[in-house]
Amino acid sequence: MHKGNIIYQEGKVRVIDCKSCGFAHVNPLPSLNELNDFYEKRFYKDVKTSYFSDYERDHDWWALNYEDILKTFKKLSSSKSSGKKLLDIGSGPGLFLDVARKNGLEATGIEPSKDAFEYSRNKYKCKVLNTTLEELDSSKEKFDFIHSSLVLEHILDPQGFLKKSTSMLKKGGLMCVIVPNDFTIIQKINVILGRRMWWVSPFEHLNYFNQKSLRKLFDRSGFKVEYENVTFPIDLFLLMDQNYLDDPATGKNCHSMRKSFEFNLQKTGNGDLREKLYSAFSKLGIGRELIIFGRKK
Ligand SMILES: [Zn+2]
Repeated sequence: MHKGNIIYQEGKVRVIDCKSCGFAHVNPLPSLNELNDFYEKRFYKDVKTSYFSDYERDHDWWALNYEDILKTFKKLSSSKSSGKKLLDIGSGPGLFLDVARKNGLEATGIEPSKDAFEYSRNKYKCKVLNTTLEELDSSKEKFDFIHSSLVLEHILDPQGFLKKSTSMLKKGGLMCVIVPNDFTIIQKINVILGRRMWWVSPFEHLNYFNQKSLRKLFDRSGFKVEYENVTFPIDLFLLMDQNYLDDPATGKNCHSMRKSFEFNLQKTGNGDLREKLYSAFSKLGIGRELIIFGRKK
C-alpha cells in the first residue's frame, strides 16, 4: 500500500513521499502496459526527438564521465579488472558500452527502446539485447559490474529492479546507479524565488530520490554502499538568475560552461580536484544527479 505525505500536486497528479517504499513517487502509478508502450515505441521519437544528435555533440564529455564511473568500478574491485563482465541496463546510444570495452571489459547492454537498440548496434557495434531487465532470464549469466544510469526514476518497481540486478551479480559484484537528485535545498530555494517545480515530470519520472532514500533502497535490495557522489549542480545557475528552464539558449550556455569547467580540470590533470569538490557538494545534498556504488552483500 502506497501511503505518505503529498509533496507535489497538480490536478490529479500527485507525488507522495511513500512510507512503505521509502522514496517519493507518483501516485497512483500508471499500468505496466501504458509504460511499456511509451518506452518501446515513443520515448526517443516523441519525447527525445534530437536525443541522438545532441548526444553525439557531447560525445567527449559523456566519455569523460563514463571513464570516471569505470575508474571507480576498478578502484572498488579487489582483483584485476580487465576481462571482467559488465552489464549496462538501459544502455541507450551505446557509448558507455564502447568506453567499457576500450577499458578491457566484456560489455553487454540491455535496451528496451528499438531506436536506441538499433542505433547502438549500428554506431558502436555493441552487444545489446532489445529487452527490459524484467523480461530477461537472470539465471543465464553473472556479471562483475552492473551500471544503470537514469533508469530507476522511470520504472514501476525500483526495488524489484535492484533485487534482480543483485541476483545477476557475482559474489562481491558491484552495482552503480545514477538517478536525478530531487527536492533538494537548491530546488526548494528556487521555488521560494518563484520558479515552478521543474524537476517533477510525472509519467516520464515516476520516482524521486534523495541521498537518504537511495541509500536506504540500496540497503534494502542487498547492497552495501561503497561510494557516493553527485554530478555538477547545474541548478546553481538558476540562483545566478541564468534561467535555463524557460530559455533554450541560456540552457545551452549553462551546459557549455559546465562542460568547460570539467574539461579544463581534466586536461590540466586536476580530475581528482573535481571529484573532491563534487564529493563536498554531495555531503551537502547538492548535485543534479546522485551517483551510488554498492557491493552485493
Ligand atoms: Zn510506495
